[in-house]
Amino acid sequence: MFDRSRRNLLSRRRTPTLQRLPWVVDEDTFVDSCTRCNKCISACETQIIVKGDGGFPTVDFTRGECTFCTRCADVCPEPLFHPTTEQPWGIRAQINPSCLAQHKIECRSCGDVCEVQAIRFKLQAGGVATPELDADVCNGCGACLSVCPASAISMFTTEREEK
Ligand code: SF4
Ligand code: SF4
Ligand code: SF4
Repeated sequence: MFDRSRRNLLSRRRTPTLQRLPWVVDEDTFVDSCTRCNKCISACETQIIVKGDGGFPTVDFTRGECTFCTRCADVCPEPLFHPTTEQPWGIRAQINPSCLAQHKIECRSCGDVCEVQAIRFKLQAGGVATPELDADVCNGCGACLSVCPASAISMFTTEREEK
């Protein structure tokens, strides 16, 4: 499995317009070489890979999470993936102001599904516990996104400082 340590952590944030597959090469190479054969779509164990713009595969976290099973990378006939021993991607989750707990409505759905415990709840005086997300621990699996009843979680990309 890939190294989930903080070693590869990343600095600059921007909101992605689309999310490609884990371990995938840069966007230009991907669009040049992906044949849109759909093998990765069929292979994905959580069915989160969909046909995006131009028929190119894209991850849709509203459908579920990436389990890092590596099936997409294993099945692809083209040289489009980095070794799956590397960190899969630089994306991380972020919690936006529409979070119910931040509006004093009890909810811990995101924390309940986060396997790596990147989301911790902190009790507020006179209020309900609010979530704090540690981006250094988050691996970008996306599990928290689809379970949020307020659609308050989004993903952002980071830029690698080192490989
Ligand atoms: S690693 Fe597995 S779960 Fe994640 S996108 Fe690829 S096939 Fe789907
Ligand atoms: S399996 Fe590879 S070539 Fe085929 S659609 Fe997926 S990424 Fe593109
Ligand atoms: S994206 Fe995955 S690892 Fe990151 S906070 Fe959400 S559930 Fe946890």
